[in-house]
Amino acid sequence: MEAKPLSGLVPPQLWLPGLNSSLIIAGPCSAESPEQLNRVANELMQSGRVNYLRAGIWKPRTTPGNFQGVGSIGLEWLRDVKQATGMPFSTEVGSEKHVYEALKFGADLVWIGARTVSNPFVMQEIAEALRGVNIPVLVKNPLSPDMDLWEGAIKRLYNVGIRNVGAIHRGFSWWGKSIFRNQPFWKIPMDLKAKYPELPVICDPSHISGNRNLVPFVAKRAMDMGFDGLMIEVHPEPEKALSDASQQLTLTEFYNLLRFIDSTENPELSYPDELLNELRAEVDIMDDLLLWALSNRMELSERIASVKTNRKMSVLQTKRWSQVLERVTDTGAKSGLRVGFIRKLYNAIHKESISVQNELIVRS
Ligand code: PEP
Ligand code: MN
Repeated sequence: MEAKPLSGLVPPQLWLPGLNSSLIIAGPCSAESPEQLNRVANELMQSGRVNYLRAGIWKPRTTPGNFQGVGSIGLEWLRDVKQATGMPFSTEVGSEKHVYEALKFGADLVWIGARTVSNPFVMQEIAEALRGVNIPVLVKNPLSPDMDLWEGAIKRLYNVGIRNVGAIHRGFSWWGKSIFRNQPFWKIPMDLKAKYPELPVICDPSHISGNRNLVPFVAKRAMDMGFDGLMIEVHPEPEKALSDASQQLTLTEFYNLLRFIDSTENPELSYPDELLNELRAEVDIMDDLLLWALSNRMELSERIASVKTNRKMSVLQTKRWSQVLERVTDTGAKSGLRVGFIRKLYNAIHKESISVQNELIVRS
């Protein structure tokens, strides 16, 4: 029998000795100045709940010209802040060189960002650079909702012997408008958790939300679903932040969030509008997918109509139609859909497809 590929991962409670609650990583999106880092680290240290300060040094920007991060000098600041406050620090690494730099300055945890995780060559390079290293390494989900890519990146680390590995759910890129910057598609991280129960999976509600008002709601939803912790962007003056200004929390907002996730408040009651909006946003996405599939299906019917005309075949092919209906009712039933509903839906689709084909044949 094939060995379980990720067995032996260190469970989260052993992973962070002395901690019996969830992992909390907090800090600014980007390191901007020693003063900014000192201010935020001092406050976070006092909360007694934050395990690692976060700050991006190298920022992988979608749009050229945006703030690219301060570079290695930021590591010197983080090292000094750690010395002054005792707060362990974490940063994002996006290349082999970043790994060596971060380790040189004593990073206590590193994470790999969503853009990097999508590139298997770079992931392999980073994994090799981390070989033999003991600090926790967290892997964000790739931009696209692709579970295999996420799992593959985690396995590359595992395969070089890294056992202190975990995942960060930061939502997925998607077309169309939604209340979220990145769609949560909760099923994907939940499937990852179910497949590897020993893999710690934390949530980054800041990059999912893209707007500070939604962050507590998403954080609470994640914790109630059983995530192992949170990574949250916190800035002493978010409105002046050089990156992700609209989603970073003030320190006061962060303290309120900590109280909220520890409370037994039900987010469905505390945030009824947000929850309804979240569910409706997901329904809109599914409707877009249905319409996209329907329009592609119609285009295929039109191409089939031209083949039928050339071969002098009649539009209605009853044997083929029975096969289609049988296949979709069977597949649909396996997904929990009622057979009567699938029949009604497919009869409507088929009727439309026949009428489109007939019109094309009459015209040609
Ligand atoms: C970040 O953590 O600031 C960041 C760039 O995140 P992501 O890789 O999730 O976009
Ligand atoms: Mn950010």
